[in-house]
Amino acid sequence: SSKLLDGKLIAKKIRDEIAGEIDGIKESTGIVPGLAVILVGSRKDSQTYVRNKKKACEDVGIASYEANLPEDCSEEEVIKHISKFNSNPSVHGILVQLPLPRHMNEEKILNAVSIEKDVDGFHPLNIGRLAMQGREPLFVPCTPKGCMELLHRYGIEIKGKRAVVIGRSNIVGMPAALLLQRANATVTMVHSYTKNPEEITKQADIVISATGVANLVRGSWLKPGAVVVDVGINPVDDTGSARGYRLVGDVCFEEACKVASAITPVPGGVGPMTIAMLLSNTLSSAKRLHELK
Ligand code: NAD
Repeated sequence: SSKLLDGKLIAKKIRDEIAGEIDGIKESTGIVPGLAVILVGSRKDSQTYVRNKKKACEDVGIASYEANLPEDCSEEEVIKHISKFNSNPSVHGILVQLPLPRHMNEEKILNAVSIEKDVDGFHPLNIGRLAMQGREPLFVPCTPKGCMELLHRYGIEIKGKRAVVIGRSNIVGMPAALLLQRANATVTMVHSYTKNPEEITKQADIVISATGVANLVRGSWLKPGAVVVDVGINPVDDTGSARGYRLVGDVCFEEACKVASAITPVPGGVGPMTIAMLLSNTLSSAKRLHELK
């Protein structure tokens, strides 16, 4: 059976490294890295994500700032809060929790975040640079960055490998494919209009799946020895659990374990890595803005 790519364990290591570095910076300079989170509306899942991010900041010594705005507030109101954080020197990272209410123009709002504080890496300039050869984005989106970091920490080589990314969202699939390509893999993207996704995925040495479809990727989709990174977080009914549901990935874990050489669990795989990368991006931003090495 496959080796487990333990995101929970690696993320803990990374958070400890970050906490240590922040302690050092505070001691020698008095600077405290700061992250501002803007939450619009009252989606339960978004509230949970924001709460978890705040808690993770506290644990490593990052100060958190928050703006909670009502569902029916205007775009101008959101942008006003972004501008305030842009010019606040104690804030080194700004993130706008997505999705935004439907009446808002996401592009316009993400554009308002200073690219120097864009710790989610969603500003079009940062994404554009990610896509271009020889350019360096200031920030890379946290979830795909977490996938790459996990592969890196387990010593999995990417150069020259065939990779398939399933899903092409702006926040996961698309930047994951760009990162794999930058790491010199040969990348194919599979999405909801792809014909024969099974046949294509079966050619991959590395599979990253981010679709939101529970158990989409079966054991039969995988090449023996493939490395599988499962980004999906999907609730499925489970009468045996107190909440009535449990979370599974996009990959049928039981089947994949028999074929893959390594695989991320859900939960405990990519999820904790995403938060660790947010902390890491916030720390690098504070260092860059204060010209620390
Ligand atoms: P999304 O809905 O924005 O995008 C889904 C993508 O999957 C689309 O590009 C679509 O073309 C593709 N897709 C849908 N059905 C498909 C099918 N049957 N075959 C092939 N492709 C298909 O979703 P997202 O925001 O990218 O999130 C994807 C999943 O990852 C969700 O389960 C989400 O909860 C999870 N997620 C996890 C983390 C994390 O930190 N672990 C972060 C973000 C998202």
